[in-house]
Amino acid sequence: MIEKVIPIRLESGAAAAAPPWDGTPPRDALARPLRDLRISVTDRCNFRCVYCMPREVFDANHAFLPHSAILSFEEIARTARIFVGLGVKKIRLTGGEPLVRKDLHKLVALLAPLGADLTLTTNGSLLARQAPKLREAGLQRVTVSLDSLDDATFRRMNDADVAVTTVLEGIAAAAAAGLAPVKINMVVKRAMNDHQIVDLARHFRGSGHVVRFIEYMDVGSTNGWRMDDVVPSAEVLARINAHFPLESLDPQYAGEVAARWRYRDGAGEIGVISSVTQAFCRDCNRIRLSTEGALFTCLFASAGHDLKALLRGGGSDEAIRDRIAALWNGRSDRYSEIRTAETARLRKVEMSYIGG
Ligand code: SF4
Repeated sequence: MIEKVIPIRLESGAAAAAPPWDGTPPRDALARPLRDLRISVTDRCNFRCVYCMPREVFDANHAFLPHSAILSFEEIARTARIFVGLGVKKIRLTGGEPLVRKDLHKLVALLAPLGADLTLTTNGSLLARQAPKLREAGLQRVTVSLDSLDDATFRRMNDADVAVTTVLEGIAAAAAAGLAPVKINMVVKRAMNDHQIVDLARHFRGSGHVVRFIEYMDVGSTNGWRMDDVVPSAEVLARINAHFPLESLDPQYAGEVAARWRYRDGAGEIGVISSVTQAFCRDCNRIRLSTEGALFTCLFASAGHDLKALLRGGGSDEAIRDRIAALWNGRSDRYSEIRTAETARLRKVEMSYIGG
């Protein structure tokens, strides 16, 4: 039985002041650095992907956040500046679907001067129109979700009245605007789109773009996740290797989410993201800021930490910095390492609320 979305618990931000930051780069309880900030700029989306925002839950009656509740571009930029001061090197804009937020290029223009690697994850349906402006504003790269090349399968997975060609045009426009190489994310669900794995690999071979195959995950509490629907990355690689021999590549940096593989014939690279069968929590350096101004220290968190009360309640940059540093230093998340059938049923924050 799929539940309605119940708001996630937020620990108050206006509680006791955090201890002053001592100036050393924050490291969590597992000695992981704070390096990667993911910012959800909206909880809305024009798709209803079955693994993220199933329509039967996120239906016409679903209460999305009112504009007054979401952080303004200035509040997001202020928060990001404080994170960069604490050592963050990479900022990823997510949603929901970030490109449904009006004038997103204006936020990009506020974030670009911070000097962090600035990227965005999108379903690509609005990318063709917005890519030049985003690039001009300072965006460096994009990741586009594409779960199938076949329209019927695409619609079954994303439950949106959008053609695959629209997303492919978005990818081409991003590349033309200088946002290449584009990363393409395919969430693989057994008996739904796994028959498309080799087709997607074949389509992007030699393009310079990198397809990453993502194991279907028990994110949130509404997608009805079952282990039986997961296609392990080992199986994905075996299927592709049977057509296009592969060899593994070393990670480019600590905490890289995708395991990298290259085609032996030089036709490029792919990746697999294996949160279910090969957990990568040991060097996870990601924190997420929800569109409502709460921090989540894990994609599978059951509670968030409100920052908005400080942002809107006259909190100083130092007070916000101290709160973030204290939160990270106390972090010990490693959900994917401890996942069980029981934990999969825990009430967890929705991915559409904090981004992937
Ligand atoms: S499960 Fe949580 S701790 Fe593990 S990699 Fe994902 S976000 Fe990081």
